[in-house]
Amino acid sequence: MSNCNNTTNLLNIEDKNITISEDAIETKKVNGVDTKIIHAKLTYNPPSSCPCCGIVNDNHDVIKYGFKQCNIILPQISSMNALLCLKKQRFYCKHCDATFLAKTRLVDYNRSISKNTFLSVLLELKEKQSVYDISRRYNISHTTIHKWVHSIKDGFIINYHRLPEHLAFDEFKSVKEVKGKMSFIYANSKTGKVIDILTHRHINYLKSYFYQYPREVRAKVKTVCIDMYKGYIELIRQCFPNAIIITDRFHVVQLINRSFNNVRIQCMKLNKDNFRLSKRYCKLLLKNYEELDQIHCMVFIIK
Ligand SMILES: [Zn+2]
Repeated sequence: MSNCNNTTNLLNIEDKNITISEDAIETKKVNGVDTKIIHAKLTYNPPSSCPCCGIVNDNHDVIKYGFKQCNIILPQISSMNALLCLKKQRFYCKHCDATFLAKTRLVDYNRSISKNTFLSVLLELKEKQSVYDISRRYNISHTTIHKWVHSIKDGFIINYHRLPEHLAFDEFKSVKEVKGKMSFIYANSKTGKVIDILTHRHINYLKSYFYQYPREVRAKVKTVCIDMYKGYIELIRQCFPNAIIITDRFHVVQLINRSFNNVRIQCMKLNKDNFRLSKRYCKLLLKNYEELDQIHCMVFIIK
């Protein structure tokens, strides 16, 4: 196998019309970042007809007409950004005076990001990480990635004929573009697999969403794990008639901690002599009984 074939194979370039010459790979700084630059050429015989006017190319009406260089972003190579400097064949139609470029499956027409990069970014989006991290790693603007997310979201189809027996509801601050302040997420509480994410958590909106599941499907849900948001309790009672509501223990502990701290602060304000002591040993008061040692406890009691 020649070096050209080895390189195209490594880069996962399947288009046979793209050739990479010997010694065509160099490392350069692009926007201050070390980048692997691969020089390649895309050419093939003039097409059988002109894509602009449609004339059949029997009398050599469409001819080769020089090259145009396009820079295409590839997925990273050994943790380095990669750029394909592709000289694309230009064609000229004598019949309509139009010029057009050779096409390749590697990249969409008039685009500068390869399809492999697009698919890699989509796979990255499955992981819990920010769009900014991905955009930095792939040398793509975060607005481009947001556009991709919006373009593919309609392709997701939720199966409204099946629900897990054990669900978990929560909300989180997602992105600026969404309608609500908080987005709603629900998952299978046994496996942790996310089922869907909704743009806001208004109860009426959530009710109309869950009513898309038939009643018999909703009736099979046995438990729903939630935080202490009272809207969810009303939602579950109406939408999941047989479900037991479970308050997540993290939120119970969080509530106890907050309440305890409120009492501690009130005590500190009442008795200023104990202000410094209560502040200094506040973590000691919150410690598990098993983790307490005699020395620290004694110091606290003596003081
Ligand atoms: Zn033409």
